[in-house]
Order: sequence, then structure tokens, then C-alpha cells
Amino acid sequence: MRPLVATVDLAALRHNYLLAKRSTPGRHAFAVVKANAYGHGAPQAAQALAELADGFAVACIEEAREVRQVVAAARLLLLEGCFDAQEYQEAAQSGLDVVVQDEAQAALLLEARLERPLNVWLKLDSGMHRLGFTAEALRDCHARLRVAANVAELNLISHFACADERGHPSIEAQLQRYSSLLDLPFDNRTLANSAAVLTLPATHMDWVRPGIMLYGASPFAELSAQELGLKPVMRLAGRLIAMRDLAAGEAVGYGANWVAERPSRIGTVSCGYADGYPRTAPSGTPLAIRGQRVPLAGRVSMDMLAVDLTDLPEASLGDEVELWGELVSIDELAAACGTIGYELLTKVTARVPRSYK
Ligand code: PLP
Repeated sequence: MRPLVATVDLAALRHNYLLAKRSTPGRHAFAVVKANAYGHGAPQAAQALAELADGFAVACIEEAREVRQVVAAARLLLLEGCFDAQEYQEAAQSGLDVVVQDEAQAALLLEARLERPLNVWLKLDSGMHRLGFTAEALRDCHARLRVAANVAELNLISHFACADERGHPSIEAQLQRYSSLLDLPFDNRTLANSAAVLTLPATHMDWVRPGIMLYGASPFAELSAQELGLKPVMRLAGRLIAMRDLAAGEAVGYGANWVAERPSRIGTVSCGYADGYPRTAPSGTPLAIRGQRVPLAGRVSMDMLAVDLTDLPEASLGDEVELWGELVSIDELAAACGTIGYELLTKVTARVPRSYK
């Protein structure tokens, strides 16, 4: 077997969910397991949280299908809602909660022939301008759905654009728009993502929707996951599959843009951008071997990357190499590559086997 594996620590996932719950006393929490549980494996993540989680949230009906197979009874929220009559029928059959985020979805819901009414989450566009009604349109829709036979609970949902930037003025503006609707009778209200779970108690409402924090990554640039008490869930590790000694002046990899400044030992690692390791990682980005951090050397290739072992003479062929996980945090790697942990985790490709512990 190719020596590269993403090991997923399900106990750490449970720890992080419980931290979200402790941060929001008395509230319910949807575990956000969309995008294959941010790359970790949605069935396995949902199974691991089945006894703990108040509910789950996914983006689309295909993801809901997969999660429903492992959690038969839990609340399962479809964050983008339904796009045709058949999806509404399946949502009713599977007992999903659905977001209704525009007039087209409301009209389809009102016309649908459903075997049972749905729990509906009316989405307010409180300022992100991605999905949702204006406050005025939402009041209007609320009046129509309140008396509709296809609607069981009528709930309110919105989403923050900048909850990860503490003190950003849009946070207060979004909260105010949201609060302006709270005179309407809603069964449940939700607003908070991970960043809001961790730092904005005024936004916790009845349900929260933590995603990234469950996977042990920080939503904040300036606060590490460790400082937040989160445990890393995924550890990506390959092996040293080749080694060579180079004279000063020799170059490494595509583009020959890493040049040895001294006699150097170079290791080749079984992980590349086709596995999800970012090609944008610059030389010097840390990897970990034998508990020590060593720098990436040169461009990441499709299936391999190179590491400078000159300062780790004990490194030998077959050694395990951590790409991220414990000694190199996903957030640190993401920052070095100008991206976010969300992107790296969701981009681990299908050829990387996931191993669960
Ligand atoms: N709610 C909605 C509607 C989302 O789109 C997301 C993620 O993008 C989340 C909750 C979870 O956000 P986070 O992963 O930042 O906690």
C-alpha cells in the first residue's frame, strides 16, 4: 500500500463537540458534517457523534442521504434547502429539516405533496448576501408558511460573514438585522458558527452550528486551536521513500528553484498535491520526522515532495513524515500557504485512505 494515510481521531472529534456544547450552555448544537465532514468522512464522523450530537447539518440532499444511513433518528438539517419537488419529497420521507432561502424554494414547498410536514428554517440574509430573504420578504414568507400544511416547525437561520474577525463591525450589524425579526413567532432560532460559538455568546440563540472547531482547527487567525482547547482530528502522514546527498549548488524539484547552499541531504516524501498537500506551500514550510520539524525543499510535485534532512542526520528511509496533525498544525500550514484549514481538510483527495482510531 502507498505509504500515506490520514488518521482520524474520533475521540478528539467528540472532545471538540463537547467543547462546543460547554461553550453554549443550554443550547442545542448541529454538528456540521457537510463536505464529507470537512474531509474526515461523514459516515464515520456522524457515527462517532451519534450518541452525543443534538443534530447534524449538511449542504445538500446527497450528503443527507449518506448521513441518514448512519443516524436514523437525529435532526438532520439541509443547509442549502431543496431545489425541486422530488428533493422535498425525499426530505419528508427522510425526516430532514430544510432551509428555505428564497421565494422559489418557498413556492416549491407550498406546492409539494408531502407524506409529512417538514421542519423549516427560514433563512435571513442578514448581510452576507449569499443566501436568504431580506427582513421584509422573510416576514411575508413567514406569514404564508405559518399556515401551510407542509410546515411543521417554523424556525429562523442566518449566517455570519466575519464572525472570525473579532470586533468586525458587520457582526453587530448582522446581529441587529437578525434581532429585528425576533418579534415573529419562531419555534427555534440559529445563527452561530464555530467562531461565534467560541466568542459571541449573544448569538447562541436556541441552536448553534459548529463546523471547523469540531475538526480541531481554529476559525481565528490570531488564536490557535490549542489555545482554544481544541484537539486536532486529522493527522496526515507519509513516509521517506528515497534519500540522497547533494553538493552545494545542486537544485531540487520542478523549476529547480531550491538550491543547496551547503552539502545537503534531501528526502523524498510520499505525498503531493494530488493527495491534497498544497502546491503553494513555500520552501521552508515545516514537516515533522522523528518528533522534529524539518523544512520543505522546493516545489511540491503531484505525488511527492522533498524535505531538507541536513539538520536531521538520524532520519532514515521508511521514517514516518507528518504533513500536518500534531507537530505541524493544519492552521499553521494553511497560513503558510495563504489559505485556511477548511480548504486543506476538504481537499484531501479520495486516493488518501482514512484510518479511524
Ligand atoms: N452554518 C452554515 C450555513 C455554514 O455554511 C457553515 C460553514 O461554512 C457552518 C454553519 C459552519 O461554519 P464553521 O465551519 O465556520 O463553524
